[in-house]
Amino acid sequence: MYGVLTSNSTLVREDIGSVAYYIADEVSGRRRAPIEGIINSVACWGDTKAVRDDPSRAARTEGGTRALPTVDGHHWGTVCPTDPDYRMELLDRIEAVGNIGAVRLTTPGFPGSEFCRCDRCERQFATSAFDDWQAWRTETITQFVREASTRVDGDLIVTLYPDPYPGNLRERTGLNPQRLVPHVDGFLVPLCSISYETTYWVESLAGGFARELGDFDVSLMIQLSASEATIERLVDITRQIDPYADAVVYGTDEDSVDTIREVIHRCRTAEPLSPIV
Ligand SMILES: [Zn+2]
Repeated sequence: MYGVLTSNSTLVREDIGSVAYYIADEVSGRRRAPIEGIINSVACWGDTKAVRDDPSRAARTEGGTRALPTVDGHHWGTVCPTDPDYRMELLDRIEAVGNIGAVRLTTPGFPGSEFCRCDRCERQFATSAFDDWQAWRTETITQFVREASTRVDGDLIVTLYPDPYPGNLRERTGLNPQRLVPHVDGFLVPLCSISYETTYWVESLAGGFARELGDFDVSLMIQLSASEATIERLVDITRQIDPYADAVVYGTDEDSVDTIREVIHRCRTAEPLSPIV
């Protein structure tokens, strides 16, 4: 299955592929009205506006580094996942969007392996049933996704950081895909580049996730970006990852839409390849 992922409210309605993802919420803090009948994304904790308005809401490390867009390795601001007011507002937003269809959660989890060591997180961990900090973080995120799943009428899709090496996602973000399986319908993994000068890593990562999730009844969607990639290159990558993915979705805007239409047309009419591993 092939589809598009876009923040353009016109393109997303054009039936360019079989599935359409709409970027309703951006990590900048910008919110758009969700659209009925497609998969709307809701940013979880990635919210530059919120931490600019109140930097004390940002997740932080033991050394006091805050998850702000001005800090190395952080491209946007991230609110602490245990902020109770933000959590409630986020669940309300997920419910409002989930009332009209499927929801994709973006930027779920802690913004890095050293986060969050704010006073509230330290207190919650100290009074929890967990001795292990990683286990507490994982439980915190798992419970949030479980709660979110009860508020969505359609499918719930969770975005995963593109690192399928066993244990790495849990350590980095607090997301344990196997723990989330009972609460979600699928996972979306962004494997974005500007032009895909090399492609071996796309196939490797897609294969890794397929193996990691292979025993579970969940869908695996792979997102490819397309800003400077040729039609031929995108078709080639798609054919390499097709055996692993239930759907391939392409980041699409007005400049790339003709390319994406042609890529989807060619992929739909091509003979399937077998997995390499
Ligand atoms: Zn915290």
